[in-house]
This record gives sequence, C-alpha cells and structure tokens, in this order.
Amino acid sequence: MERCPACNAEYKGRQFCHRCKTDLSLLLDIENRAEEHLEQACSAFELKDYENMFFHAKRSHSLLSTAESQKLLASAALLVKKFNIAVSLTCPGTD
Ligand SMILES: [Zn+2]
Repeated sequence: MERCPACNAEYKGRQFCHRCKTDLSLLLDIENRAEEHLEQACSAFELKDYENMFFHAKRSHSLLSTAESQKLLASAALLVKKFNIAVSLTCPGTD
C-alpha cells in the first residue's frame, strides 16, 4: 500500500493513517496474506505441484491483483491446462 485509501495520504508504514487516523490493519493483513499465497505458489512450482500452485496463485490474485500475481496465475493456469483463464488474464476482453 502506497497511499491511504480513505484520504490518499502517503502511507508511512503504521497501522493508522497519520492524516485521517483510518485503521489500515485489515488492508495490511490482506496484503500480507496475498504475499504468503504468492510465496506458496512459487514453492509449489518448485515442487512441480501445479494444482497447488494454481490454487495459491488464484488466491493471491483475488486478494491483491498485481502484475506479478497476474503473471503467476496465468503461468499456473497454463500448467494445469486451464487455457481459458490464462488467455483471459493475458488478453483482457476475451472472457
Ligand atoms: Zn488517511
């Protein structure tokens, strides 16, 4: 998180926004969980457990959509032969 979603102040790394005092802990938890699933997806890839990779990549991308999570999910989708998902992630508008 780079900015407070409530007031757009720069995020200073604390639980509460320094400007509007919004509690950001839920959003930080979501970001942390997304990162954990991303790491678990990479670990599953190294073990060639592609179904598990796909599960964690999909969970990560649903929690926090980033360019990295999108690429990982598209790669995992290809590895488990879910081509429609891979194509929809790399070619928007083809759902
Ligand atoms: Zn704020």
